[in-house]
Amino acid sequence: MIQISEKLIQQMECVNEHYPLLGLIIDNDKFIVAGLLKFCAQHIDHEEISDEFNIEMHISSAFPDDIILVYETERTQGYEHKYTNGALCLGSPLEIGFRVRNDTSLISYIKNLIVPYFYFFVYFQKYGIKPFSDLEHGKAGLVSSYQKRFNTSNISIVNCMMRYRLTHERYNINTRCPCGSNKILRDCFNHRMILTQLYLVQPSFIRAELNSLKTRIK
Ligand SMILES: [Zn+2]
Repeated sequence: MIQISEKLIQQMECVNEHYPLLGLIIDNDKFIVAGLLKFCAQHIDHEEISDEFNIEMHISSAFPDDIILVYETERTQGYEHKYTNGALCLGSPLEIGFRVRNDTSLISYIKNLIVPYFYFFVYFQKYGIKPFSDLEHGKAGLVSSYQKRFNTSNISIVNCMMRYRLTHERYNINTRCPCGSNKILRDCFNHRMILTQLYLVQPSFIRAELNSLKTRIK
């Protein structure tokens, strides 16, 4: 097995091709990618934004099975999309898992999560309108992201589907749907689709999501 530090050093080569002012700091078992993130981005039919932010990406030794905590302390002070620990709220664990499902490397994290976050932030500051819809904060945000992703307003269905995913390595379309409808998965079309999507996300992200469900939906 490749050491996490070796893996990160390798991945930094690709990061530095696009973002040369970011560097990797290794301090015992702490891994931080820090420096200036200079980007130029555009969302479909919207203005191009070029900007730069000083960031720190705190990477745990469980990477890529664990979420990276990203910090920016100058311009996003007081911004609503932040965790209570000060890290940028890049989305719920499941949303993050979906965005990096095809590529869990550092560069994918930066391009698919961090740059869109700053693009949204700058665009909204500049034009006063949102370039794409964001997550409402707190409980409402989490619930509406589930409703969108799972196409159901029933959170206990969400719960059942995610638990099923955690305890099954594969699913059989002829098995009874875990949503409780008494239909087989093949006939519970939407739930079959959800499972297909869930199988693309690492179990650790689903586990983190279930934990946030537990603590935030009361
Ligand atoms: Zn079902």
